[in-house]
Formats: sequence, structure tokens, C-alpha cells
Amino acid sequence: MDNETLPLLISDSFDFDCNTRLSCFNECCKDLNQFLTPYDIIRLKKNLNLTSGEFLKTYTQSHTGPESGLPVVTLKPKENSGWLCPFVTDAGCLVYEDRPASCRTYPLARMISKSRESGEITERYVLIKESHCKGHCVKKSQTVSVWNRDQEIDEYNRMNDPMMEIISIKNRLNIKALDEKTGYFFYTACYDLDNFRKNAVANGLLDVFSVKRDDVLTLEDEKLLLLAYNWVVKILFKV
Ligand code: SF4
Ligand code: SF4
Repeated sequence: MDNETLPLLISDSFDFDCNTRLSCFNECCKDLNQFLTPYDIIRLKKNLNLTSGEFLKTYTQSHTGPESGLPVVTLKPKENSGWLCPFVTDAGCLVYEDRPASCRTYPLARMISKSRESGEITERYVLIKESHCKGHCVKKSQTVSVWNRDQEIDEYNRMNDPMMEIISIKNRLNIKALDEKTGYFFYTACYDLDNFRKNAVANGLLDVFSVKRDDVLTLEDEKLLLLAYNWVVKILFKV
């Protein structure tokens, strides 16, 4: 089978299953090109019982996205392993319950766009058929919608979709690249959430949203991240 992609609607069905009995088990975790979203980091740092700063330092690297011009975070391959994911073991994924959104979504890829007029979000899906992946040969049919449900992807989408909005606002404002200080604050707000929380308490970063500093201390990470996205738009992009 050559590599190919196939556009799908949310109601379309596809044959696929991934399980430990397949000869390709773990193959997809050995060729790492893994971008992490802000919510991926929240889930992974909790799974590993680390702060966001400890997680980022140990497991990730960051660079400026060539298209978005914004800081992006990727998983660092396991040392001296080529491109092996740091969380893959012979028995499977060490962080399976909290694996990143792209690991859950695969073999699908999800793209969204938002109407400027109505604000309505449109989802598009693509089925990625790679020659090494034997899961496509298993006759187990499911719709995209059922796949999303089984992979518990909705919460990831809810928490990550605002990042698409941020990129779209940046493009609309025609901001090319962030200066060093703005880039640092963007990275901290979106990815290093524990550090953002400390800054917010010490320097009143969220006073602008009338959130009391004592309340910032105890806010759930998910609520803090949504506020951090708003802070990026209001303070860094001045919208
Ligand atoms: S079936 Fe595909 S997704 Fe599952 S382990 Fe094999 S290569 Fe990875
Ligand atoms: S996080 Fe888990 S599922 Fe994702 S690439 Fe790593 S080992 Fe594989």
C-alpha cells in the first residue's frame, strides 16, 4: 500500500483498528515528529507528576513555527534513539491515558476553519494511510464521530481550538514574528502554565480580567489556560 490520504466527513466510516497483536505495534511511535498543544502539556505534566517547567525542560524542545511565526513545542526524541518517542515502551505508550491529541486522532487528521461572519467552526477530516500501518487492513468499521468519542478527543479539541483563533488573529493583524520578550510571554502563557500562574499572582497579569490574585492560585489548569489565551490576545496582540 502506498501512502495516501482520503478526505472524510464526520459521518463517514472507515476501516481501522490498532492493537498489540499487529506486527506494526509501536511503529508509529518510532518516527517522532510530535507537536504538543497547550492542553497536551497539561495532561502530560499531570500524568508524570511534574510542573510544566520541569516537563518542558526534560521532554521538549521549542522553536519558532516557520508558518505561524509563533513559538511551537515538540517532544524531544529519547536520547541516542534516533526518533523514538520518550514514552514508548515494548508494552505500548507509557502515558496512554494522557497521550497527546495527535496520537489520539491518528490515523485521522482534523482541520478547522471559522467563519468570520457567523463565528461557526467547520471541521474537516483526512484519513492518513501510511504503508507501515497495518491497522487499515483490519475490518473494523467506525464513523469519524465514533472514533473521536472512543479516543476521548472532544476535551482536547475544546481546549486546543482557541489556539487556532489566536493564529488567525495574528494573521489578521499581519504580525510577522514576535520579538523576544513577546515570544517569551506567549510561550509562558500557552505552554509553561505553572510559571504563568506564578507571574499572574506576583505581577497581577490577570487583574485585567478582574480575577483576584488569590483565586489565580487555586484555578484549575484548564480554566487558567483559557484565561491565558485571552490574555495573549488582549495584552500581547492588543485586541
Ligand atoms: S496500527 Fe498503525 S497506529 Fe496502530 S501501532 Fe500499528 S502503525 Fe501504529
Ligand atoms: S505519546 Fe504515546 S502514543 Fe504518542 S507517540 Fe509517544 S508513545 Fe506513541
